[in-house]
Amino acid sequence: MNLTELEEIGLKNVGKIYHNLSYKELIKHELENGECKLTKKGATAVDTGVFTGRSPKDKYFVDRDPSNRYIAWGDVNQKVSAEIFDELLEISREQLSGKDLYVTDVFCGASAASKRSVRFITEIAWQSHFVKNMFIRPEPSELEKFSADFTVLNACKAVNDKWKEHGLHSEVFVLFDIERSMCIIGGTWYGGELKKGIFSMMNYWLPLEGKLSMHCSANVGEKGDTALFFGLSGTGKTTLSTDPHRALIGDDEHGWDDYGVFNFEGGCYAKVINLDGKSEPEIYNAIREDALLENVVMYGEGEVDYEDSTKTENTRVSYPIEHIDNHKEDLMAGHPENIIFLTADAFGVLPPVSKLTKEQAMYYFLSGYTAKVAGTERGITEPTATFSACFGEAFLPLHPTEYAKLLGKKIDEHNVNVYLVNTGWTGGKYGVGHRMSIKDTRDCINAILDGSIQNSEFDITKTFRLHVPKTLGDINPEILNPRNAWVDKDDFDKTRDTLAKMFIENYKKYQDGDHPDYAPFGPIVGS
Ligand code: ATP
Ligand code: MN
Repeated sequence: MNLTELEEIGLKNVGKIYHNLSYKELIKHELENGECKLTKKGATAVDTGVFTGRSPKDKYFVDRDPSNRYIAWGDVNQKVSAEIFDELLEISREQLSGKDLYVTDVFCGASAASKRSVRFITEIAWQSHFVKNMFIRPEPSELEKFSADFTVLNACKAVNDKWKEHGLHSEVFVLFDIERSMCIIGGTWYGGELKKGIFSMMNYWLPLEGKLSMHCSANVGEKGDTALFFGLSGTGKTTLSTDPHRALIGDDEHGWDDYGVFNFEGGCYAKVINLDGKSEPEIYNAIREDALLENVVMYGEGEVDYEDSTKTENTRVSYPIEHIDNHKEDLMAGHPENIIFLTADAFGVLPPVSKLTKEQAMYYFLSGYTAKVAGTERGITEPTATFSACFGEAFLPLHPTEYAKLLGKKIDEHNVNVYLVNTGWTGGKYGVGHRMSIKDTRDCINAILDGSIQNSEFDITKTFRLHVPKTLGDINPEILNPRNAWVDKDDFDKTRDTLAKMFIENYKKYQDGDHPDYAPFGPIVGS
């Protein structure tokens, strides 16, 4: 790395360049800069500042040829002009010029045929630590000849004062210029923008090469059987893919090409709110030296209080995947045998496990359903439904049906079984019932992965018409059909129909005649 490379992107009078520092050096900088505290177990803990989550409304793509012909413009993919991008690039350059900078070179994508080289430039040491944890760390020989395919300028200390004049959403900006292979960030320090920003780019590049990119976790059994776990935030991708009996491929972002499945990342990003060492020992024990905790509350001599959500519910830890003993070293595996769609249904309507037909799989993939529980306001117990296509619409630059088409083709080609697993509520909706235990969910998943579920007899539920096993191993059969688990059957029927109507309403946007209509395979009220 030399100064010319930074000057080429317009940075002037750069001070020291901290290029690809080791973990030890980074942590030393974090401590000296006053950015972090050390925990008793040797992990570093930082506060991410005003933002403890991403700012999706501040994300824009530059409107120029040819990418603008592929991008599905709308609320998720907003347009910004090249002129405004240039103005904000200038603000970012001014912010970073004259400073000491951390420059981190990484790969995204474990497969040689699909990987991209990404360079992150930032003023903040912990952000460099975060991307080192999350992305694939190149070998020294690869660093020597590293040439960036894409560059991220993180000027988080700069804000856009002219956002109103520019017609943007706020003083925060997360802007992508695909043709210039550059992303600029201002106004937010949150590391998730760096992770999910590059994920968005992978979701642009790969499908245009005929490869599927996916918001899912993945692991592989001893017999080489790969499983994918799709799901929106909080549904259990990280928790459930981290399994001592199966090698972890990755916990969040993967590609699927003609050779199989590969991780985009080299690390995991686990939620730590209420983290319990007994039910999630692998994640708990991964929080040690080199792991980076975010927004947790500490007490005593570097003890972490995982139950404390004072700073945010979204407390997190990033760690290199090597912190999970049973991981797949090459971060790749063959074509999946099983695909599991995870949903945290706070309405308590969807069964803990159901087997989907191919058509149902397409319907539930495009619906991308989960539910959020209401905030902490007293007396409010109604859950809210979230529909996010392909279980990750916020990160999809192309139209969701592009990803669905690729998935459908691959399911057919490789004869993949698809299941829907509800990690949410049972025995009543949020406020009445309770969240499914991790143990019950794991039992359902084990029955899928060892194939024993195939020997079950199945019932078909009303309205959603889902195939649910009548019995399954040691699981209490009362919970397998959600209606049986509810005390108040009338309330169940009413809640089920309410949820069904929300599915039907949401799906209308895909019934435009341009795409195969999978609505007949979704819920039908009164059936
Ligand atoms: P993100 O996309 O934000 O990373 P994720 O899908 O990886 O989200 P997890 O980090 O696995 O979600 O979060 C699931 C959370 O729900 C964990 O905190 C876990 O402890 C908790 N949980 C409670 N019950 C269950 C269950 N039955 N199955 C899975 N997770 C559960
Ligand atoms: Mn996760």
